[in-house]
Amino acid sequence: MKTAVIGTDTGEAKKWLEAGQVVGIPTETVYGLAGNALSPAAVARIFEVKNRPTFDPLIVHSNSLEKIAQFVTEMPPAARRLADACWPGPLTLLLKKASLVPDLVTAGLDTVAVRIPNHPLTLRLLDALDFPLAAPSANPFGYVSPTQAEHVQAQLGDKIPYILDGGPCQVGIESTIVGFEGPELVVYRLGGIPVEAIEHIVGPVRVMAHSSSNPKAPGMLKSHYAPLKPVYTDGLDGLVDRYGPEAVGVLSFKDLSPDVPAGNQFVLSAAGSATEAAQRLFAGLRYLDGLAVAAIYAELLPERELGRAINDRIRRAAAR
Ligand code: AMP
Ligand code: MG
Repeated sequence: MKTAVIGTDTGEAKKWLEAGQVVGIPTETVYGLAGNALSPAAVARIFEVKNRPTFDPLIVHSNSLEKIAQFVTEMPPAARRLADACWPGPLTLLLKKASLVPDLVTAGLDTVAVRIPNHPLTLRLLDALDFPLAAPSANPFGYVSPTQAEHVQAQLGDKIPYILDGGPCQVGIESTIVGFEGPELVVYRLGGIPVEAIEHIVGPVRVMAHSSSNPKAPGMLKSHYAPLKPVYTDGLDGLVDRYGPEAVGVLSFKDLSPDVPAGNQFVLSAAGSATEAAQRLFAGLRYLDGLAVAAIYAELLPERELGRAINDRIRRAAAR
């Protein structure tokens, strides 16, 4: 089977996108699987390639506020303040949708998720296109998100023609999703911009990022971002007793565990930096998933700033 070409040519990506195809694109959060957001056929192809249920809406990526204004019917002052402070960056805003945006993009919802990503190659690509890009993370639905072009190649390479290679993602976890319920601001998904930073800009927000039963935003599904091996966030001793030290993988924040071989471990940040831990999180889960281990133990970070979003991903990886 043919496999995707990996390259750094935005002209090549543009050519495929203008032909209605979907391509892998780099962003600062994770790699996206992008298609023309204004073409229902291209958007349908994204769902098909990703095997994503059509009830799970996509984020629309653009490179300017002026363009985004065409896809929404209003931009509340608080949204504008967040946009001014955070874009380009790992913030997604849920705003009332304009009719220009196909219903398939928003899964029939009356809001559309919009964002200006902070990656030079993708900003150049968006500048060259006369349409925005709908893009979910470029992984099969439910699996660990890709943070390198090679991750996209390994999982979706036989289904897409081109992957724009922008190097390893600098943030490494998905965008923070913020919407409105009446006048109230709500965080629907913890992500690359900490809640503390958002509250610094707009004041108190409600965090509603955990929902297993009623996924208003399916990025909120309790089990998501999951490796194939079972992940546990407590009971390392019990796992070592049950499977033996050779058969347990460990994802730790900053220190190696004395209980399992070093080769079975992935340290997120020896320096104890949550920023570095976020950058390496999904690559670490992939690494451990690829080892001959029966189970993965993942250590949680201190529950603040980026640590909250990292812990959110680890807990969902552990949810079954
Ligand atoms: P992904 O790009 O894979 O991180 O997925 C995008 C996520 O954005 C979805 O899973 C939803 O959680 C969220 N999302 C996108 N559009 C909307 C919307 N209109 N309303 C609520 N959540 C949305
Ligand atoms: Mg995703």
